Amino acid sequence: MNDSVIIIGAGHGGTTCSAALRSNGYQGSITLIGNESHPPYHRPPLSKTQLQPDAPPSPPLLRADTFFEKNNITLKLGEHVTSVDPKSKQVHTESESLTYDTLILATGSSPLLPPVSGLQSCRKYTIQKLDDVHLLKKALMRPKHILILGGGFIGLETAASLHQLGHRVSLFEREERLLSRVCCPTLSDYFQSLHQQQGVAIHCQTEAMEVRESGEKIELLTAAGDGFVGDEIIIGTGSTPHVDLARHAGLTLSNGIDVNAFNQSSDPNIFAIGDCCNQWSERYDHSIRLESVQNAVDQAKTVAAHLCGQPRKHPITPWFWTDQYDVKLQMAGIKHAVTHQIIRGTPTPGNAFSIWHFSHQRLQAVDAINDSRAYNIGKKLIEKELPVPIEALNNPELDLKTLLASAEAQ
Ligand SMILES: Cc1cc2nc3c(=O)[nH]c(=O)nc-3n(C[C@H](O)[C@H](O)[C@H](O)COP(=O)(O)OP(=O)(O)OC[C@H]3O[C@@H](n4cnc5c(N)ncnc54)[C@H](O)[C@@H]3O)c2cc1C
Repeated sequence: MNDSVIIIGAGHGGTTCSAALRSNGYQGSITLIGNESHPPYHRPPLSKTQLQPDAPPSPPLLRADTFFEKNNITLKLGEHVTSVDPKSKQVHTESESLTYDTLILATGSSPLLPPVSGLQSCRKYTIQKLDDVHLLKKALMRPKHILILGGGFIGLETAASLHQLGHRVSLFEREERLLSRVCCPTLSDYFQSLHQQQGVAIHCQTEAMEVRESGEKIELLTAAGDGFVGDEIIIGTGSTPHVDLARHAGLTLSNGIDVNAFNQSSDPNIFAIGDCCNQWSERYDHSIRLESVQNAVDQAKTVAAHLCGQPRKHPITPWFWTDQYDVKLQMAGIKHAVTHQIIRGTPTPGNAFSIWHFSHQRLQAVDAINDSRAYNIGKKLIEKELPVPIEALNNPELDLKTLLASAEAQ
């Protein structure tokens, strides 16, 4: 077993990995280095409850304050790692150099700014870190007109939260539908109707060309020549993995740090987990980079188990959730080579429903709106790769528990 592990990044992946190493019996030294000054906290609330004016200063912590000391984990906060030298097995921060036997990169991702003229230099907000939320909340002390660039999960969650706080919200998406990268057209239509019914102005197929600060206002000019004026602009146009340290260390990169089923990079002493890595998937026969809490946490546990001599492969069923207004979307699986889709329930606002995605006879993914039973059963069926008769699902009277029981009995 190794003597010292250094983990860079004290977010969901890094923090879980430090804890899982100890719970798996790792006796060596563990140093967890994070460049944020706050103790490790849950990130998803940032675009949801944390935007509320009366939210506590920090979202819930990932581990109690006393956890790290009790478990003999050295937690270094507010320390930025500037480089990694794989030959000397050293990590350099702005103030010191540390030596590792095993290094774990859990550096996450950061918001991607689209190449829109004027955007780099103008006043704008992103939501990735707690400090971003503190800045944004200072700017939103009175009701304002907020322009949001990007109709993905972060853009939509932010739109819902700010609309509920009394701001006027206009959201701009370049593609012809919302959530086009991760959801099927039925769900995109659902979320568009949901937001429009609430009063958020949704502009799809609208590409931002230029952003200008004009006094207190922000002007957005689109490719079609339209102009919109707001008080603030928030960017939610996707993320890019933090790979600078890995690139300088000479690791193999593609859409993130390339890792095998045990999250090992091209250097056997360096592992990468969470948003920053791109993992080969046997099931889907291609590499996947996911941005979700489940992925970061499961990969962290995979690495910890591997380092403690209890190897397990990273589980193959990803899951994700988003909360907007009183709607919870839960998703399990990956929509890979989908050939059939079954919708149970009516996919319009106000209704619970689920969408089941098949590749031929094989259930690949389930999306459930306010229907955790469908989500839980669908997830089990996918995880266990159980046979699901498509025709049976089409019957609205079918009890999903019975379906699971008969699939398990086969
Ligand atoms: C606003 C928002 C809402 C989200 N909502 C959901 C949701 O509802 N459901 C869901 O499943 N997922 C959600 N996610 C995604 C989820 O939070 C991420 O996938 C998850 O945090 C990834 O964990 P990670 O450990 O890879 O990275 P992170 O949790 O981002 O942690 C990485 C840490 O590494 C630090 N770091 C980077 N470089 C260095 C360096 N050189 N030196 C030191 N430290 C460094 C970063 O500052 C950061 O603190 C959301 C993300 C955001 C931003």
